[in-house]
Amino acid sequence: MTYTQMSMAEIRVLLDDKQLSSRELTEAYLRRIEKIEPRLHAYIKVTPEQALADADAADSRRAAGQCLSAIDGVPMALKDIFCSEGVVTTCASKILYNYQPPYDATCWAKLKAGGAVLLGKCNMDEFAMGSSTENSAYGVTHNPFDPDYVPGGSSGGSAAAVAADLAAYTLGTDTGGSVRQPAHFCGVVGIKPTYGRISRYGIIPYASSLDQAGVLAKSCYDAATVLEIASGQDRMDSTSAPQPVGAYREACGRSVAGMRIGVPREFCGEGVQSAILDELWAAVDKLRAQGAAVEEVSLPHTPYALPVYYVLACAEASSNLARYDGVRYGLREAADNVYDMFAASRSAGFGAEVKRRIMLGTYALSSGYYDAYYNKTLQVRTLIKQDYDRVFADGFDALLTPPAPSQAFRLGEKVDDPLTMYLQDVCTVPVNLAGLPAIVVPVALHQGLPLGLQLIGAPFAEEKLFTAGSAIESARLVPSGL
Ligand code: GLN
Repeated sequence: MTYTQMSMAEIRVLLDDKQLSSRELTEAYLRRIEKIEPRLHAYIKVTPEQALADADAADSRRAAGQCLSAIDGVPMALKDIFCSEGVVTTCASKILYNYQPPYDATCWAKLKAGGAVLLGKCNMDEFAMGSSTENSAYGVTHNPFDPDYVPGGSSGGSAAAVAADLAAYTLGTDTGGSVRQPAHFCGVVGIKPTYGRISRYGIIPYASSLDQAGVLAKSCYDAATVLEIASGQDRMDSTSAPQPVGAYREACGRSVAGMRIGVPREFCGEGVQSAILDELWAAVDKLRAQGAAVEEVSLPHTPYALPVYYVLACAEASSNLARYDGVRYGLREAADNVYDMFAASRSAGFGAEVKRRIMLGTYALSSGYYDAYYNKTLQVRTLIKQDYDRVFADGFDALLTPPAPSQAFRLGEKVDDPLTMYLQDVCTVPVNLAGLPAIVVPVALHQGLPLGLQLIGAPFAEEKLFTAGSAIESARLVPSGL
């Protein structure tokens, strides 16, 4: 096995034993990126100088017996939505083509303080709006298992980078499934923790009441390792949670005996690819064989989640994206007066999907429609959340579902049909509306492409997700064509 194929847990043993230096490891990743990246385009920007400098610093610390954490010296990458001081952060938009953040996102600062080595910034859908990474202003990312297929989105570059061994782990964000659906499409582990578990400070906002950072990694254990470091309350984000960070690594591999797992019937009906349901029932057998009780449950408001999500996410996006006006930062187009300058800059800077959502959101918030759309949506959001509250109050530890209706689809297949693209998110958006944690773990290959399963937990029950997730995760799925 080459170094870049190893899990973080395996790498750490070699680093600690001084059989491998962080510089050697980082050089191995940079060579692999040079070789594979032209075919995949998982990165918007690679930062080799920074990576090698970070690696040398990690090696000096280790030599002095001052290793900072379990991720010290391990090469990783960030979705290009996380502010990184001194490294251009575009959010895959033309409007931020030259934006150099003056500070680090809190979660990135925490990983940095733990010794993370930054390989670069990953491709994504513009402003995290999309499910295929085809909405990037900087070109599409290809699925490492088949270049004719999408990697999912919006954190498609982050998932593809982990699957193709172009980073040991990555951070993504998940507003309606953007960590979990690409994890499913690329055969890696993706966790979106409880809303507020990771600080949102320094993450370019899409829909603030739904946005949450998450981790993409090669195993549950690796994801747990990173989540322990990235999480925690932050005085720069008043919605960040005061609850103590769990012992996520210890939860991996723990017995599921005595756990109660629900399978919501609304997630397993028509329209879900049969291969995914076959895998779901196989996982049920596996969990039962290990002593868990599995029962069917009902979440009756599930059918409303998708429309509620798209009204709410677009409404919040239209307000959040008002700041890109050509004055404070980003692209500016010359015009005769300030209003024309705003219009020209926004027209040239935003892509078609972003404009569509700004218009939908502005409409839902406009006077006369506000009550009918925005306020009604908030009411139904509460009903959706209450479905989950009820099931968890009944004593269920986690819910097992498909992560999406299908496995990866072909590049170009849905890009001209926004509604079909939105339908991709039907299994993931209820989780964001309810503010819950959820993990996707790879379980099998089907016709050469990965399949994952999703586990949803009660607020701050990430440990249970790592326990149940590690009980059903397959051995690592490796793309053969690279
Ligand atoms: N695909 C969903 C959307 O387009 C989710 C995106 C996300 O989670 N950032 O809004």
